[in-house]
Parts: sequence; structure tokens; C-alpha cells
Amino acid sequence: MSVAAVTAPPASTVTALPIDQKGWLGWLAENTPLDWRPDEWDGRHWLFTGDPESAATAIWRCNSAGCHVAVRASRHLCRACYEQFLDSGLNREEFATTGRRALVRSLPGSRPSCTVEREGVRCALEASVMGACELHYKQWRYKFRRSQTELELAAWLRVHAEPRPVGVSCRVGGCAGTSSARVSLCTYHRERWRRHRREKGLTDADLDCWTASQAPRLTGFQFSLVGLPELLRHEVLYALAQRDAQRPTLSPIATRLVVRTLAEVDSIAALTDTKLRSLSYDDRNGDAHWNDIVRLIRAAFHQFRGVDPLDQPVWELSDLGLPSRTRAGIRINPRRLDVTQLRQDWLRRLLAVWVKEANPDNVTFRRTFEGCLSASRALTARPGGGHDPGALKITDMDAVVAAIRDRQRKTAPANCPTGLDPSCSPPSSTCSTSVAVCRSSTTSHPRSPAIRTTRSRTKTPPRTKPARPSPNWSSPSSTPKPT
Ligand SMILES: [Zn+2]
Ligand SMILES: [Zn+2]
Ligand SMILES: [Zn+2]
Repeated sequence: MSVAAVTAPPASTVTALPIDQKGWLGWLAENTPLDWRPDEWDGRHWLFTGDPESAATAIWRCNSAGCHVAVRASRHLCRACYEQFLDSGLNREEFATTGRRALVRSLPGSRPSCTVEREGVRCALEASVMGACELHYKQWRYKFRRSQTELELAAWLRVHAEPRPVGVSCRVGGCAGTSSARVSLCTYHRERWRRHRREKGLTDADLDCWTASQAPRLTGFQFSLVGLPELLRHEVLYALAQRDAQRPTLSPIATRLVVRTLAEVDSIAALTDTKLRSLSYDDRNGDAHWNDIVRLIRAAFHQFRGVDPLDQPVWELSDLGLPSRTRAGIRINPRRLDVTQLRQDWLRRLLAVWVKEANPDNVTFRRTFEGCLSASRALTARPGGGHDPGALKITDMDAVVAAIRDRQRKTAPANCPTGLDPSCSPPSSTCSTSVAVCRSSTTSHPRSPAIRTTRSRTKTPPRTKPARPSPNWSSPSSTPKPT
């Protein structure tokens, strides 16, 4: 069976706003499992923290001992470690075990305390620059630049700095930072609040609302949905939970890319096809995640509205339960089939009924669709166009049979002895992903222009494993988890 890019974009299959937002939100909440990835998903703060030890999560720790930076494939080094590795003169194994790293990135919240201490009381803030917390470092830099002190940082900390008391937790949900300032925001969020106040004209009265929409400072293991509109975040969460049943792994980095692109979106279900095509990703993994999310939300929205997906002019093959021909049975390329190629309504309905009752596999479905397409074209050329099934005559059926036989002859391999390719029924399980292979030969059928399917978005096919941050950083023995 062959696949070619569709020439004309299919009609939109989504409904523009206004939709029953309240009902749709309720449906999503009802159909999203409450216990989705309990070790990784913090539902209260809409925060996902990927476990690098989990086979279901496409994220790994940097391969330098002690480094906690997230990387996109196993045995990779983060950028900082890779640069230090190049300067070290060691081979990769030596560097990973003994290392000569001048700098190792640590997890937020795991840094040692600031070194300032007076009479047994230590500064409560985390050290961030040469043993000093950010506050003490800035104090020293201010004085040093204005010649108010000639002491180097370490000496100034020892002689002049006063320890800061234990702060209160940052008021942004999920943030591990603390604050001892008037506004209980950690340094990161205080700077951010200051900037947003200036840029967006916010006032103190907006602080509660602002903190409720803020994510913690995310590591490479994390993504957050908290900044999305309520309906949209429920849509994405529903799709991610459903996606787990179809895909082996979830990439936090790819999901973060998707979330970032949704800044101007209120609801995926309400997106038009034009708007959908404008949302694109340079990252193939992000593209694959996005395609899955859109497909799953569209199918769910059909279900919510009580619309039969088989009544639609474009069918999502994944949602019809048509498994992929990959060994894992996972459909890598989300394909859409424009069934308006069948001109006769009754023929489209007949095919839909057959799909529901026969639950065909991918190969059988595609072969049947090609047969229907030949029949449709033969009937279209007949008087009346074959639109009324009650008016069909035996001569119409003869034309259909002749058209199907003609198609079989054209698509049979050259060395098929009958010319009708009987040995291809059913085709071998060794068929490639898009071309049926005759069991009596190793010759592939030529691609037929008849079947036109299209991906949800016309881009390069998504990769089956996470993208690497840079070819230079990869290890030849790395083993990315598939997505
Ligand atoms: Zn590293
Ligand atoms: Zn300090
Ligand atoms: Zn914070």
C-alpha cells in the first residue's frame, strides 16, 4: 500500500470558539486519571519532574559523576562538562570516573550554605559565587568597585559580612527557594516579579495572581503547565496521560518546547487547521509530541461532542484503532486519510461501518480503501455517478469489478505470474512501512498515487528517539530511549 502527500489541505475538522468550555473542561477533568505518573507529576503545582532512572521518561543525568544536569540521551555530557572534558586531556571513561572538572553543576536546593559565619550563626542562604550567597557577593562587588574595600571576596566575607537569617519559603508553588526580604520571593522570582511589574504594569495587588501563574525555576528534568490557561492545561494533561498508553516514553524537554509555543493559545480543541499549521517546532521530538497531543485532543473533543470520527471528512488512522506496521505496534507517523476521495456518500458510510465491525489491521484497511477508491472512480464515470445505491445495475457492478482488476494488474509486481498478484493476499508480514511486498518475490509494489493520506502537520516525520543536544556531545555507546 502506498502513501503520498495529499495535494490539497483537508477541510477543518475542528470547531472554532465559542465551544462549551465549561462542559469540555469537566469532561477532561473526569477522563484524566488522577494518579498519572505519581512519582513524577505534582498535580497541585502542575509540575512534572522526570525521573532519569525511569524507562518511561526520555531524560538522563549528565555522565559526569556528581553532575546533575539533564541531557537528552544516555551517557551524554552536559555542555559545561563536555567543554571541561575537551580541556582535560583524558579519555571519556577516565573523565567520567576520575574527572578534572573545575565546575560541577548541582541540583537547585542542594548547594552548600554561604560561608559567612558570626559567633556560630551561619548565613542561611545558598552559596552561589565562590562560597558566597548572591546577596553577600553583590554587597562585596558594590563596595569593591567603588573602592570602599580593598579586600578580596573571601577576606571580606570573613571580616565584614553579616549572616542573613533563615528565610521563609518562596510563595511560588513548587519553588525550593527561600527569602528573607519583605516580599517572600526567592532571588529568582523576586527579579522576575520586578521585571514583570515594569514591563506589564503590575502592582502589589497583582502579586497573588502573579505567583499563582508562576513555575519554579525549571531544571532540564521538568516542565510546568501552571502558566497555561486553565482549559489548555487540562487539555495538555489529558493528552499526555492518554499518550502514555500509545508511546513508550515522554520527553520533559520536548513537552517544554510544546508548552512554550502555546503561549498565545486558549484551547487546542478550538484551534483551526490554519493556526495549527502555524505552530511548528525546529525540534523533531517536540514536533512528535505536539502531533500526538493535537491528535488525542481532537479525538477526545469528538467524543465529548458525541461526533463519530468516521463521519468526518478526514480520518485519523491512529484513532480508528489501526495499528502501525512497526514491530512495536506503535504508529510513529500520525496519518490522516481524506475519505472525500470516495465521491459517493453511501460508499463512505459503508466503509465506516465495515471499519467498526471488522476492526481491520492497517494492511487490510488500506487494501480495502484502494478497492473502494477504484469502485468510486468507476461509478463516478457511469451515468448518475453511482450516488444512488438503489439505482445501481449489473453493468455498474461490471464496471467496478473491471476497475479493481485493472488496478490489481497495474500494482502487481512484474514477476507476479498471474498478473493479478494473488500471492499478495494477504501480504507478507515483512511489508515495509508503506509498500506491500509480494510474498512470491522480494520486489516491492510500485507506489500508487491512489491513496492519499496526510500527516496532521506536513513536516518531516518525527524521530523515534530524543534528539541530541549536539553531535559533539554524544557518546558512541549512548542508547537513547525511544519516544
Ligand atoms: Zn555535566
Ligand atoms: Zn550569605
Ligand atoms: Zn521562588
